[in-house]
Amino acid sequence: MASPAKQDQRVSRKRVAVVGAGVSGLAAAYKLKSHGFSVTVLEADGRAGGKLRSVSYNGLIWDEGANTMTESEPEVQCLFDDLGLREKQQFPISQSKRYIVRNGLPVLVPTDPIALIKSNILSTKSKVCFYLTIEFQIILEPFLWKKYSTSKVSEDDTDESVGGFFQRHFGKEVVDYLIDPIVAGTSAGDPDSLSMSHSFPELWNIEKRFGSILSGLVQSKLSTKKENSGVRNGTTGKRKPTRGSFSFQNGMQTLTDTLSKELGEDVLKLRSEVLSLSYNAGKSASQNWSLTYSSDRNSKNLIADADAVIMTAPVCNVREMKFMKGGIPFPLNFLPEVAYLPLSVMITTFRKESVKRPLEGFGVLVPSLEQQNGLRTLGTLFSSMMFPNRASNDEYLYTTFIGGSRNRELAKSSTDELKQIVTSDLRQLLGVEGEPTFVNHFYWSKAFPLYGRNYDSVVKAIETMEKSLPGFFYAGNHRDGLSVGKSIASGCKAADLVISYLESSTHQPCAEQ
Ligand code: FAD
Repeated sequence: MASPAKQDQRVSRKRVAVVGAGVSGLAAAYKLKSHGFSVTVLEADGRAGGKLRSVSYNGLIWDEGANTMTESEPEVQCLFDDLGLREKQQFPISQSKRYIVRNGLPVLVPTDPIALIKSNILSTKSKVCFYLTIEFQIILEPFLWKKYSTSKVSEDDTDESVGGFFQRHFGKEVVDYLIDPIVAGTSAGDPDSLSMSHSFPELWNIEKRFGSILSGLVQSKLSTKKENSGVRNGTTGKRKPTRGSFSFQNGMQTLTDTLSKELGEDVLKLRSEVLSLSYNAGKSASQNWSLTYSSDRNSKNLIADADAVIMTAPVCNVREMKFMKGGIPFPLNFLPEVAYLPLSVMITTFRKESVKRPLEGFGVLVPSLEQQNGLRTLGTLFSSMMFPNRASNDEYLYTTFIGGSRNRELAKSSTDELKQIVTSDLRQLLGVEGEPTFVNHFYWSKAFPLYGRNYDSVVKAIETMEKSLPGFFYAGNHRDGLSVGKSIASGCKAADLVISYLESSTHQPCAEQ
């Protein structure tokens, strides 16, 4: 990143307000601050981090929000290098060992669709009989797809469900026993409700480009190899090979804590809920925005002036804000309501001698169909198997998820009820005996926005806001993907757009809006 000293003086005086101190807002603010802009981050909550939330208590460490992330996005790699975060990264032990339940018991499998298709499942004969069916359909995928491609995919081409897409390519069993648990484990959603183009845009585009997912993946892998050999020869960009999922020492919040520390108290204003935003085009390009926010330090609402705004608050919160343009209300009635998925996160510990069949690896996912075998959780991470410092030597710490679109009501259950449900599932899956020695429950009423089959209307409405309100940019997990990595990339891209917007408005006289 360019040093502040190198920035144009006129540009560096520009002010940017960032709404929301989740990982996307913090990443955006950090990039802008590094470029010499004057940044204010307004966060409604009393803490920064948003959906990254780590707790250290009595020798235990756990995450109540995101547990791991990847660094496939180049923006993430740059950010980590800049922040010196590499030495704090913590890679899980045996991360390739991931399990999905079949007939009431955990079975070792690859966990994401791309990994599945690229994995040994294609070449190695599995000993488990259900693999044989899946393998057979995957090998036939290019032929099956060709067969179906002549038929109409759906009324609206961009509206196909995740379930419909994978069933077309790989058959129903792949959907029931791989896609269903994976989407429940990564987005709390279900294959029938989720939009393919928004949930798996890369695979969606590969299909559009190459027809078959398999041949598309082979071809894009070949072109990546070519690119990488270019990297070795020093002829192309600086993308580094990645090592899968990881966390940080003391949990995922280390990332947002580091960003918050870099930004400093002057930049980051906690307990500052943005209530309204007003855009007034002035004769000059400066300070066209004014944001009203509540502050618990002061009974009166406060005002922050800015030349540009990056909004990273969830759409449900944006819908509650009042927008004004040129002194008259700018109603957001075109911004659709987003459906959210509730989730309970249960932390339990058990003494090691009470776990009769502990599994080494990342965790276990439960397909919906396995509810008929008495299992009610969505999945469990083997947190202290992955990261041994998360519990003492004589106990295991587990992180279990309950609810999502599969069972919204169950997510709202009491801690006691959920403790029984988790203990019962872990008894069946891992052979735990007796009661957990420690329990912690965190309830997210809106854990994930549902990228439903009408999600295009949300993205289009966000674009309309950006077009109608000069200097307004939206970033975060409601737009560019749900993962931590994608949220960071979204924040960084918004910062880039702000930089070019402010640079161009500095050099040109401001047009009347
Ligand atoms: P948020 O983190 O939601 O931040 C938005 C911020 O805006 C919040 O801090 C909020 O308080 C603030 N805000 C709202 N309204 C206002 C207002 N009016 N004024 C000021 N501020 C406001 N991703 C992964 O990659 N790996 C995982 O393992 C993973 N697991 C997850 C597990 C759970 C339980 C959850 C909930 C999410 C998980 N995710 C995971 C997803 C990922 O954590 C999120 O998508 C990502 O962190 C979202 O970041 P964000 O900055 O876009 O939004």
